[in-house]
Amino acid sequence: MLEGSLEAKRAELLALDGVGEETADSILLYGAGLPIFVVDAYTRRICERLGFNAGEKYAEVQSFFMERLPRGVNIYQGLHALIVEVSKRHCKKEPACDGCHLAPKCARARRGKGHSAKVNI
Ligand code: SF4
Repeated sequence: MLEGSLEAKRAELLALDGVGEETADSILLYGAGLPIFVVDAYTRRICERLGFNAGEKYAEVQSFFMERLPRGVNIYQGLHALIVEVSKRHCKKEPACDGCHLAPKCARARRGKGHSAKVNI
């Protein structure tokens, strides 16, 4: 199992019942140590609130990060860990922006609770 290129391994995982893109990429990044960025609900929520124009579909959000970051397992794992951490501490369902280090760059924090405009970076 899990032979060939990263893309082949990913396709193999996605062919399994119950395995979606987030699960497949988590297995590849954390289990197999391969360089692919994991998109989860935390990532989507932070992108939206920061005002990143990252897209709606999983592949769009994944490409948004992978096209902008140096390719690397440690980089992808590290950023994902930071996203999870800030999401649990601050960027919860109801955001607690006081003390969030992202606030100076955050469209939602700048605009209050109103819907943030999309920003291209
Ligand atoms: S400033 Fe608020 S809305 Fe923006 S990322 Fe931080 S917690 Fe989330």
